[in-house]
Amino acid sequence: NSVLSMTFQRQGDETENLLRPQRLKDFQGQQKLKDNLSVFITAARERNEALDHVFLIGPPGLGKTTLATIIANEMNAEIRMTSAPALDKPKDLAGILTNISENSVFFIDEIHRLKPALEEMLYIAMEDYEIDWVIGQGPAARTMRIPLPRFTLIGATTKAGQVSSPLHSRFGITCHIDFYNENELSGIILRSSGIVGTEITPDAVSLLARCSRGTPRIANRLLRRLRDFADVIGTGIVDVDIVHEGMKRLGIDLNGLDEQDRNILRTIIEFYDGGPVGADTLSISVGEASESLEDFYEPYLIQKGYLKRTPRGRMVTRKAYELLGIPCERKMDE
Ligand code: ADP
Repeated sequence: NSVLSMTFQRQGDETENLLRPQRLKDFQGQQKLKDNLSVFITAARERNEALDHVFLIGPPGLGKTTLATIIANEMNAEIRMTSAPALDKPKDLAGILTNISENSVFFIDEIHRLKPALEEMLYIAMEDYEIDWVIGQGPAARTMRIPLPRFTLIGATTKAGQVSSPLHSRFGITCHIDFYNENELSGIILRSSGIVGTEITPDAVSLLARCSRGTPRIANRLLRRLRDFADVIGTGIVDVDIVHEGMKRLGIDLNGLDEQDRNILRTIIEFYDGGPVGADTLSISVGEASESLEDFYEPYLIQKGYLKRTPRGRMVTRKAYELLGIPCERKMDE
């Protein structure tokens, strides 16, 4: 696995928690989103109410979990965190909902993977603050209504398109988190280098920001690898030479693309004449799970203009041929 696709996984990363901003003012970038959230949080706090339910949409590593924690902190509220695949039976969800306290935050990651029966329970919980609980079986079964405290559900997803519209419509606040620009990433790298205590030159900050794929999680992870290179093969300071050398060794180019990114583009060109090729076929051809292909690789390749999603499948653009130095004989309808 490449260093970038490892960033797709997130478990057990203690430094990640160390670097997680705790307050809205420390959350870099996404200015419009922060301004709006700040208003909604202030209004709810002044009315002494739970914040409306929040839906966070964006690729992995852009700060969804971080924002959920920040919202709870700013609301002075407790937070319970889980992810949809961890909720198997209705009683798993009911167990959490009946145990949360008034005005607290309940965060469900990967909410597009929630099972239908649980989703239905969640609709009622979100709208009426109660759940229907069936006791007994067969003709003797009866339904009990259990009241719940007012709470804020924060649902996060990388795939908004896979969330059913009844669920979607029950969120009062929707936040789209976009890839970060180089300035914003520079701010994140500077803040993180201060926390982990690494010296980094201003030029190196900008260069690293360019290589970070618009993603704070990647910026932070690359910073840690560069710190290793600086300590072992350099002078301990992360400078431009260390960034160049480190990126070369990690197989990452100056656009932030890694070997698998280039492999994906090259495969579409060489095996499928530039596309279109279906997502499942592509996933097998490049040996990447379709989830990480769709959630992690494609969004950035699309944003950078190397790849297009069409109704018939994925297609590369002329820019992809140029990147790989392959002559493009096809007429591209861009
Ligand atoms: P997601 O839940 O979207 O996958 P996370 O919230 O776990 O992403 O963020 C990944 C890492 O990136 C965290 O360690 C956090 O420190 C950092 N991060 C994300 N967004 C920001 C931001 N806007 N400012 C500073 N750090 C950020």
